[in-house]
Amino acid sequence: MLSDIEIAQAATLQPIYDIARQLGLAPADLHLYGNHMAKLTQATVNHLHQQPIRAKLILMTAISPTPAGEGKTTTTIGLTDALNKAGYHALACLREPSMGPVFGMKGGATGGGYAQLVPMENINLHFTGDFHAITAANNLLAALVDNHIYHGNALQFDTISWRRCMDVNDRALRRITINQPIFYDTGFDITVASEVMAIFCLATDLADLTHRLGRIQVGISSQGTPIYASDLQAEGAMTALLKEAFQPNLVQTLEGSPALVHGGPFANIAHGCNSLVATQTALRLADYVVTEAGFGADLGAEKFMDIKCRQSGLRPDMAVVVATVRALKYHGGVEVADVNTENLSALSVGMANLKKHIDNLRQHFGLPVVVALNHFTADTDAEVALIQSAVASWGSSLHICRHWAAGGAGALTLAHAVATLAQQPATPTLLYDNALSLTEKLRTIAQSLYGAKDVTFGEQAAQQLHALAEASQGLPVCIAKTQYSLSCDTKLRNVPVGHSLHVRELRLSRGAGFVVAVCGDMMTMPGLPKQPASSRISVDANGRISGLS
Ligand code: ADP
Ligand code: MG
Repeated sequence: MLSDIEIAQAATLQPIYDIARQLGLAPADLHLYGNHMAKLTQATVNHLHQQPIRAKLILMTAISPTPAGEGKTTTTIGLTDALNKAGYHALACLREPSMGPVFGMKGGATGGGYAQLVPMENINLHFTGDFHAITAANNLLAALVDNHIYHGNALQFDTISWRRCMDVNDRALRRITINQPIFYDTGFDITVASEVMAIFCLATDLADLTHRLGRIQVGISSQGTPIYASDLQAEGAMTALLKEAFQPNLVQTLEGSPALVHGGPFANIAHGCNSLVATQTALRLADYVVTEAGFGADLGAEKFMDIKCRQSGLRPDMAVVVATVRALKYHGGVEVADVNTENLSALSVGMANLKKHIDNLRQHFGLPVVVALNHFTADTDAEVALIQSAVASWGSSLHICRHWAAGGAGALTLAHAVATLAQQPATPTLLYDNALSLTEKLRTIAQSLYGAKDVTFGEQAAQQLHALAEASQGLPVCIAKTQYSLSCDTKLRNVPVGHSLHVRELRLSRGAGFVVAVCGDMMTMPGLPKQPASSRISVDANGRISGLS
């Protein structure tokens, strides 16, 4: 089998005009970035948002993953291709890749095998420059804060909470000290964890974007009053930096299905969903919209419901849970190096992780669920049969998906099941009432979704809980925790019991409209592994990239 980049580079891409035409869009609706990538113009987006919603919304989520990822993006693309192949009119909504994982451990985020987005090199690297614009807007605000203090500090900044960002895993920048002109400790987050990224992905339109940027809290004065970005008149210039980026990007899959790829917060350290603007646009352009929320359903799906859907009023019609035999064996106690060897006993233990995620989606979010078994070549028939009968006994259906090896043709049974189930009436619900206190919200998520016995607060978080009591009222919580476990401890696999959710730090994201609870040893600026993926990447004399995965 060829590598992902070899498959992507061998593909013949259609002009992006032709992809747009499938959606009923004309050349004038596009702002071109070469022949194969385009943004939808702001006028087109505004016009579409006036139209009624036409599509069923399908949420792609997953079990707790291994470090390699279990194939949500790949399955989102495979399902979209399969739906189109079967004659349904489908559009994928995905996040833009971050350069953190591209050069780190996981690699790119454009799918894999014969279920990929193209042009994959462009999408995985700078794409249309959106993340650079977000980084610039974030860091403009940081410069305005320090500049204000330099020129006399009329607002009397006492504490400064605004941090800088960049879209590379650079652990050396986690903590920095500014000494210009006052001395304070701050640091960098990766761009995908920044509040500007979250605002970008939750804003309904340019006016809401400006409004949310203005209400970012950047610090506290010596009188104890909050200081906002609007006190520095920052929001207009920040919006000016973001206005092109704010238009959704249109690309294609290897099979010529359309995909809107826009915004990209991580689901472990941020809220994990593509932009609301792209989702709202997509719902007017197709009959089925498939959208991925990051990592396991405890993270991405919870935040999709409790943050994105709560704020926007959107509701999905159903969820697809991606599972792999290898990850379930890993949850059953097998080490990563051995996940390709048949092990029915480990699999039957590890299936509990899948069951917990299905139960959570049905019971706590009221979502109809199907399971997509993302098939790997090492999976044995006995393993597949074991999971299939278990899922059937839980009252769900499992569909074996071979889109990685075979493109859309490999996911047709999933496509038919999804097209049928999405038409059934569903009554999706949110997990908690926004009127609850922050502690009660955290406890509800921890106990009902993670199976924790309680929530504990470190010293810093306990102080912040007190300080944020008023400001956090009516805001949902965005939990930053490891994706590898239902708990906040990376090492606890499967369905851990008896654990507590330990909150280390709380951060108010007033513009985004949530409070971030940093749990366990989660870092909002990741580090690179000893052998980063960057070491395999090179470019030939014709500008052709190799080694990108
Ligand atoms: P997620 O979105 O859940 O994090 P991805 O779809 O990005 O996961 O897939 C992670 C990696 O696994 C990608 O490099 C992809 O090429 C690879 N992959 C996905 N599905 C398969 C499969 N069925 N067989 C082999 N590799 C796969
Ligand atoms: Mg993904």
